[in-house]
Amino acid sequence: MARIVMKFGGTSVADLDRIRNVARRVKREVEAGNEVAVVVSAMSGVTNQLVKYCTDLSPLHDAREYDVVVATGEQVTTGLTAIALQAEGVDARSWQGWQVPVRTDGAHGKARVEEIDGSALIERMKAGQVPVIAGFQGIGPRERITTLGRGGSDLSAVAVAAAVKADRCDIYTDVDGIYTTDPRIVPRARKLERVSFEEMLELASVGAKVLQTRSVELAMKQKVRVQVLSSFEDKPGSLVVDEDEIVEQPVVTGVAYSRDEAKITLRRLPDKPGIAAHVFGPLSAANVNVDMIVQNLGADGTTDMTFTVGKTDLPRARETLENARSSIGFDAILTDPEVAKISIVGIGMRSHAGVAATMFNTLAEKGINIQVISTSEIKTSVLIGVEYTELAVRALHTAYGLDAPAGKASA
Ligand code: ADP
Ligand code: ASP
Ligand code: MG
Repeated sequence: MARIVMKFGGTSVADLDRIRNVARRVKREVEAGNEVAVVVSAMSGVTNQLVKYCTDLSPLHDAREYDVVVATGEQVTTGLTAIALQAEGVDARSWQGWQVPVRTDGAHGKARVEEIDGSALIERMKAGQVPVIAGFQGIGPRERITTLGRGGSDLSAVAVAAAVKADRCDIYTDVDGIYTTDPRIVPRARKLERVSFEEMLELASVGAKVLQTRSVELAMKQKVRVQVLSSFEDKPGSLVVDEDEIVEQPVVTGVAYSRDEAKITLRRLPDKPGIAAHVFGPLSAANVNVDMIVQNLGADGTTDMTFTVGKTDLPRARETLENARSSIGFDAILTDPEVAKISIVGIGMRSHAGVAATMFNTLAEKGINIQVISTSEIKTSVLIGVEYTELAVRALHTAYGLDAPAGKASA
């Protein structure tokens, strides 16, 4: 007997037939003698619609009210999944974030999980009941509903798995594992049987949506065994494991892309000490995360500063910078949402030279202009025009020898 957390993403609960399918999968685990807790996302597309309602009403809406709206998608699927389980003869009960409770900080829209008391859930599981928990949502310090950032149901699942001391956290989704890159863009992407926490963390943080970044971070910290598998097919999935459990390590393990960032350029800032602090201090106070940064020095003692922020943070970032204009002292602010960040990730990059050069050459051969570059120990990212996303990802996937042999394509 094992204790398992089963998490089902948006496409897995997209309609009633799929919810019935989820119920049958859960029933199978229960009948095998396991204790099961389920975490569900909203039906696919629902959260996007809810976000759009908020932004259409006001681009700079109150983040507390945004959370009230967007958390509703998961409330629907917990109830429906519990009903479907009951219809299958499985004892089940829905739990909203506040009922567990999933305690978070007060950073509405991207709250961090601070504590989950798993005792009530464990009690129910021991009594043979399946808790069906709303992913993505929690309760903040002022007893208000919070949400954990887009894709946050993965984090809910891992946090619940840690709280109930589960043997496994199974993330059911619409692909059958973690691939060398998004199999929807590169049909010759290869499924990885095992991925290290470090690489998965980097891949997720640069856009591989299959797992949310903070869920990987938490799994690594709390030693939760995470498995990614398909909710539609019975196939072995991919395991996220410690680095030393991986025998053969290629230099580059995966390629990821993100279209979720926007580029901001501040023109003609005074080139003097403290200028970066003047720019990034107010942004950080406004809860805007800055990712890639590049600074170009002009001949006249001024400088241009280019950086990226999350696309959804763009209106807030712009407003914040406009408000700080007099203390920063820039001439103009230019924004460009039509960009994509392409990244290569691999532990082997630590010990191999010339890995980034291959990336730059490959993109140059395709005539793709690089706007910003950033690197870390096991990752190199470039910012390019969004229209080149697919071309760049495919070319890099081939250049690093990641393509599956012909005939063995995934899709
Ligand atoms: P869910 O709704 O189940 O959480 P997501 O859409 O958040 O599903 O994540 C699954 C998607 O992640 C896949 O459909 C796939 O397009 C995308 N994806 C991006 N990178 C990868 C990768 N390296 N391996 C597998 N899937 C990936
Ligand atoms: N429903 C939320 C979202 O779309 C959370 C999730 O699916 O993980 O972002
Ligand atoms: Mg997801």
